[in-house]
Amino acid sequence: MVEVQTCQTMAEAAASLGEGARYLGGGTIVMRQVNYGDQSFHRIVRALQPERGVRGDVQGLRIGAGTTMADLLASSEVRFLHPVARQIGGPAIRNMATLGGNLFAQNPYGDLAVALLALDAQVVMSGGQAQPMERFLAERGHLRGLVEAVSLPRPQPGTFYFRKVSRVKPKGVSVMSLAGCLRSGDPRVVFGNMGPAPTRARAAERALAGGLSEAAISAACSVCTEGLAPADDALASAWYRREVAAVHLRRMLDSGASD
Ligand SMILES: Cc1cc2nc3c(=O)[nH]c(=O)nc-3n(C[C@H](O)[C@H](O)[C@H](O)COP(=O)(O)OP(=O)(O)OC[C@H]3O[C@@H](n4cnc5c(N)ncnc54)[C@H](O)[C@@H]3O)c2cc1C
Repeated sequence: MVEVQTCQTMAEAAASLGEGARYLGGGTIVMRQVNYGDQSFHRIVRALQPERGVRGDVQGLRIGAGTTMADLLASSEVRFLHPVARQIGGPAIRNMATLGGNLFAQNPYGDLAVALLALDAQVVMSGGQAQPMERFLAERGHLRGLVEAVSLPRPQPGTFYFRKVSRVKPKGVSVMSLAGCLRSGDPRVVFGNMGPAPTRARAAERALAGGLSEAAISAACSVCTEGLAPADDALASAWYRREVAAVHLRRMLDSGASD
C-alpha cells in the first residue's frame, strides 16, 4: 500500500522526503513503478505548486522542474527545445512528463537531459543552490532535496542540434540520442544511452572547436565514441551503438540546427 502526501510547495515536499519516500512529478515513471509493485518506496510526496513554466530575461532562461513537455512546446521562448520535447513519448506522456522527472530518467529515457547538458544548463535545487548539469548527472543517485528548476544561457541562433535515433516511429524510445551546442570555441556534443547517464563526447568537442568544416566534422566522427560506455539492451547491442554513433553524429550535423 502506497501512502500519498500532498504538500503546497517544493520546499515543503523536499522537507517531507525521507527513507522510503519518492517525489512524484508527472508520474509517468513513478506510477508505473507503483503499478509494478516496486517495494523500494511506500510513500509518495507531491507538491501542488512546483515551479512550472519558462521565464526569460537578459541573463538567460529559467525553466521550472514542473514544466511539462507540452508546456515547452507551447512556449516560443524555448523554440529550440521543441524538436526534443516533440519526440518524447506520445501526446498523453507529453502532457504529464516533467522536466524534473526527465533529469532522473534512466536509459532509454532522458532525451531532454541530453539536450540540457549540451546547452550547459545549471540545475537549481529546492534550497536555491545550483550546480552544472554534468555534476548533477554524476551525483543524481545520491542527491538530497528536489530540483526546483534549470537555468541556461539562450543558445545563439543556429547553434543547437538534436537527433533522436529510435526503431519505432513516432513514439519509440531512444537507441541513442544526440545533442550539440556548437558555440564557436566551446562546442558541446552529448550522447544519451551511450553510458549510464548522458555523456559529453569530449574528443568530438575538441575536433569541432575550430568550427564546422568538413575536415572537422570527419575528425569529430572518427573519435566520437571515445569515453562513451554503451550497454547491451533489448533495443541494441553496445557494439551496434558504437558502430552507428558516427553515422548519426554526421547526420545530426548535416541536417542543420534545430532553431
Ligand atoms: C510510454 C512512455 C514513453 C516514454 N517515452 C520517453 C521518451 O521518448 N523520451 C524520454 O526522455 N522519456 C520518455 N519516457 C519517460 C518519462 O515519461 C520522461 O522521462 C518524463 O520526463 C519523466 O518525468 P515525470 O514527471 O513523469 O517523472 P516522474 O515519474 O514523476 O518521476 C521520475 C523520477 O524523477 C524524480 N523526480 C521527478 N521530479 C523531480 C524533482 N523536481 N526533483 C527531484 N526528483 C524528481 C521522481 O522522484 C522519480 O524518481 C516515457 C515514458 C513512458 C511511460
